[in-house]
Amino acid sequence: MEMSSSQVEAIVKQVLSSLSADPAASTVSKAPAGSIPRTAHVAMLTGLEKFEIKEFPMPEVGDDDLLVRVEGCGICGTDAHEFKRDPFGLIPVALGHEGTGEIVKMGKNVKVDSAGKPVAVGDKIVTCMIFKDNPDITMFDLNKKNVGGADVYGLLPDDDCHLNGWFADYILIRGGLGSTFFNVSDLDLDSRILIEPCAVLIHAVERAKTTGILRFNSRVVVQGCGPIGLICIAVLKTMGIQNIIAVDGNAGRLDFAKRLGASDSVNFKDYSGVEAMAEGVSEKFGGHLADFAFQCTGSPAGHSNIYKFIRNGGGLCELGFFINGGDATINPHFDICSKEITTVGSWVYTLRDYATTFDFLKSAKAIGLPINELITDKYPLSRINEAYQKNLAMTGLKIAVMPD
Ligand SMILES: [Zn+2]
Repeated sequence: MEMSSSQVEAIVKQVLSSLSADPAASTVSKAPAGSIPRTAHVAMLTGLEKFEIKEFPMPEVGDDDLLVRVEGCGICGTDAHEFKRDPFGLIPVALGHEGTGEIVKMGKNVKVDSAGKPVAVGDKIVTCMIFKDNPDITMFDLNKKNVGGADVYGLLPDDDCHLNGWFADYILIRGGLGSTFFNVSDLDLDSRILIEPCAVLIHAVERAKTTGILRFNSRVVVQGCGPIGLICIAVLKTMGIQNIIAVDGNAGRLDFAKRLGASDSVNFKDYSGVEAMAEGVSEKFGGHLADFAFQCTGSPAGHSNIYKFIRNGGGLCELGFFINGGDATINPHFDICSKEITTVGSWVYTLRDYATTFDFLKSAKAIGLPINELITDKYPLSRINEAYQKNLAMTGLKIAVMPD
């Protein structure tokens, strides 16, 4: 085919203009991809309900350390309490423990993660607990029932490094502290942000199984459909449990509970009094009370009521009182003795629960559960104060903070 010189000119012009429209072309003046900036930005909680973005020099990466570029971090209920009241007395503190990001620099001694899986620059990781007093603990050591007594990034006292929490654009994971971390490059970003809260439920279900009452064909009540109760439902569904009733007072959350695996729901606003609610539960189970219940609210009334939904000889896992929410009244005769209820408490997780959590997230997706929709809002780091106010308003589910 012959082309006229004007046609050639038109093609050349088109190619040139498409080149200059290439978004990559306009970023050439910025730092080349993969380079590490000289400073990092950390959202420091410097007072009650007040984060300030602080800039710090990028720290040296020691032989046992990892420098990680943060990709996102969820806000936990624990963070919200620290934001409002500083119960841990940590201010000023770099918060954020539900984070994930990409390794940009590694010390020469770091070869594998806490499970023994190889890691390299470019891999995506999450952190788990920090065992300052017992750095030799491994993920298969079950002597410790949960994380209690260990530290986590995002709840450490501030120090010379400052890059101690995931609400930042970089975080330094220090081998010398007894840090644990996992290579989760095979999970998408939203799933990685959900790992830590999901581990809480993996642990709760493991605790529930120790009663011998929770089985694949059990009738299960999950009370409270905040992120914890909703994830609980998804974990049970992924285990193959079909008879799950969600209990909450929010119709939107109950609808989402059904999409995450609940077979039915009870809106407590439709019932007056706990006896009527218990009847409502029993009706939905075809005339039976629950074999097992998960109490996922932080409300004393929630704890008092839950026993009424459980059959004689049934089981209960209480995991809603993550922090001290006050005393709850029960009737030991009717609620526990005469019914012979087996109760377990559950709090946080073990290292081993993390490994199970990675599989749970993959299985949940494989059976079509819309687990990533748990993240309802994403705020840039520079607007972290708004993100926390949104969390306190409880109008979303999981709120995530992403670097600017
Ligand atoms: Zn948390």
